[in-house]
Amino acid sequence: MKTILVTGGAGFIGSHLCERLLNEGNEVICLDNFFTGAKSNIVHLLDNHRFELIRHDITKEIFLEVDEIYNLACPASPVHYQYNPIKTVKTSVMGAINMLGLAKRIRAKILQASTSEVYGDPDVHPQPESYWGNVNPIGKRSCYDEGKRCAETLFMDYHNQNKVRIKIVRIFNTYGPRMQPDDGRVVSNFIIQALQNKPITIYGDGSQSRSFQYIDDLLDGLIRFMACDDSITGPINIGNDNEFAIRELAELVLELCNSRSVIEYLPLPENDPVQRCPDISYARELLDWKAKVQLKDGLLKTIAYFDGLLKTNRAVIK
Ligand code: NAD
Ligand code: UDP
Repeated sequence: MKTILVTGGAGFIGSHLCERLLNEGNEVICLDNFFTGAKSNIVHLLDNHRFELIRHDITKEIFLEVDEIYNLACPASPVHYQYNPIKTVKTSVMGAINMLGLAKRIRAKILQASTSEVYGDPDVHPQPESYWGNVNPIGKRSCYDEGKRCAETLFMDYHNQNKVRIKIVRIFNTYGPRMQPDDGRVVSNFIIQALQNKPITIYGDGSQSRSFQYIDDLLDGLIRFMACDDSITGPINIGNDNEFAIRELAELVLELCNSRSVIEYLPLPENDPVQRCPDISYARELLDWKAKVQLKDGLLKTIAYFDGLLKTNRAVIK
């Protein structure tokens, strides 16, 4: 049994990770400032004597004794990370420094939730880990993209300079139950709109692509990578390599929700990547990992979750 810190543990991915780590018999400390996370995501864990919750902001130092750290704290949806871009950079950069400093002092192993956004609007497709990316340093998405890039730099420097045991994972678009209904990401938006028969908002002409990974597949990848040999630092891509146009996603959600919604085309946001799909050769070879959940199956589970929220008036109605 290990003691494991999950920063951002009350968020979408973090809450599932806390639950999985508890089920595997570990002690779990969930740290969150509740900017985009919610107590409702973890309320069912509070009775577990191996679970602890700390309200804290990772831009400030903290002293804890743990064996492993998963550093997930950071708003992930464009709506939320652009709400206060300076704070987003602080969370990624100062948060990384604080968590790496902690890992160094207590000799913990630390995993960084990096992102496919480090590739920006990629001109190499699909994206292997060796690709350096095409990122605008001064655009609307830069606070997130450059913050995460700088965090990767800090992780490598703490590893090289101070021998901190690090793991960098580049997570591609992930979806599932407990996504915030109001966070503006495409899967949650389309499902909530379709369930209410409201217009489905496609930004641009819907030809831009993403590859959508169900939360369970991501958790398998994160946990396997954390467990692999200390000499392996990453970065490693963890994502589904089935690529879909946003218009295709809209059509599938409409069909699965049996919805009467019409499609409404809205302007494409600034610097919205045209294409995104991971090259997962490294994860296949190193971890024997690939995403298993088909989009249709993952969407059905996510639709059931949002349907439940809407029926109990717990979803923000867009
Ligand atoms: P989320 O917004 O649901 O979760 C982020 C959590 O971090 C929230 O609970 C939030 O309250 C907390 N947080 C934010 N700033 C904080 C701070 N300064 N101090 C303490 N807590 C703070 O997002 P998510 O989708 O669960 O993403 C989790 C991590 O995974 C993020 O680091 C994100 O960048 C990364 N990621 C997610 C995706 C995705 O598709 N969901 C893709 C790539 C990377
Ligand atoms: N998108 C859309 N309609 C929405 C929300 C998003 O067409 O209501 C598009 C968005 O412009 C982008 C894609 O869907 O091209 C994925 O957006 P999301 O915010 O989920 O993730 P990211 O852009 O960070 O990959």
